[in-house]
Amino acid sequence: MTDAETHAGLSPDTRLVALGRPERAPGAPVNQPVELSSTYVADGPVNYARVGNAVWSAFEETLGSLEGGYALVFASGMGAIAAAVSLVPHGGAVVAPAHSYSGTLELLDGLAADGRVELRRVDISDTDAVVAALPGAAMLWVESPTNPMLEVGDLRALAAAGREAGAIVVCDNTFATPLLQQPITDGADVVVHSVTKYLSGHSDVVLGAVVTAPGERGQELRGRLAEHRRLHGAIAGPMEVYLALRGIRTLSVRLERSGANAAELAARLEGHPRVERVRYPGFGSIVCIEVAGGAEGAEQVAAATRLWTHSTSLGGVESQVERRRRWGAEASTVPESLLRLSVGIEAVDDLWADLDQALRALGRGPAP
Ligand SMILES: *Cc1c(COP(=O)(O)O)cnc(C)c1O
Repeated sequence: MTDAETHAGLSPDTRLVALGRPERAPGAPVNQPVELSSTYVADGPVNYARVGNAVWSAFEETLGSLEGGYALVFASGMGAIAAAVSLVPHGGAVVAPAHSYSGTLELLDGLAADGRVELRRVDISDTDAVVAALPGAAMLWVESPTNPMLEVGDLRALAAAGREAGAIVVCDNTFATPLLQQPITDGADVVVHSVTKYLSGHSDVVLGAVVTAPGERGQELRGRLAEHRRLHGAIAGPMEVYLALRGIRTLSVRLERSGANAAELAARLEGHPRVERVRYPGFGSIVCIEVAGGAEGAEQVAAATRLWTHSTSLGGVESQVERRRRWGAEASTVPESLLRLSVGIEAVDDLWADLDQALRALGRGPAP
């Protein structure tokens, strides 16, 4: 029996901690050691490290169990996304959200410009609009909540409609994590992750993963994704995967704190005189605000925080703030004044005090 089978009945919080461990034997290490070997003695289960590695397997067992499928680790979230997109046949149609991670937007736009795919952009929170775009589609790409607009799609309805239309249904589950949302249970074929974010959780590693559904259809997709990883060759280093495995152990306690902080900050920000709009889907640890003073006002707020780090990316233990439209690749329908707040695990009153002073300084020039 594998660990995954032994622990299948346990709560996800427990599986995060218990899975992906070496076999228990007297004197055996408790953690999967980092194995630094490119090659292995012949006739074992793995013969070369571009194909497999014990620390990859430990991480994949843990993430796969949480998502209810089979995980493959990739060198980055974009590596995982590019592998998933490669499942579209040449010229096939992809239905994808108008707002999503900017790298995904860029990748799909580039492939559409080259004629590699036909792209149909939709509002992922408008189920009827998605369904109307589906006929003949090869892939339905879902991101929910979306980065950075925090729109939420009705996953169950979208997955059912996508499958009905004959499309491969993919969901980027980076923002929700498998603790808050399990797209495979809701009917998706493939889940992709930027492991860089919540799963690793400490802003010290760039990594990605795909997870495929159980069953024959999932098995076929998994085979193609594993071949993509083996032949495109941009694989994860064992040290990065070790760090991700170490980080995922605390996912549940980190999300509990950062989620509670986010809910509290979203409520307090609703009444703030310098905040024009708060976006918060009611779960997760990201809050987006639109501030007074347009792009310039938002840049001023980001520059005036002392505890919050003005930096890109999200999902670490430390709180981060960024004006997303500072990047040319961001969708032009994202407001110029939108600040994305990745809420960390610090004390909420300290986070509030720093954000409040940065917001109140808005429009006040430097002291004469
Ligand atoms: C960051 C991010 C990605 C890209 O992941 P990398 O690990 O940076 O390559 C993909 N999707 C979402 C939702 C993200 O936030």
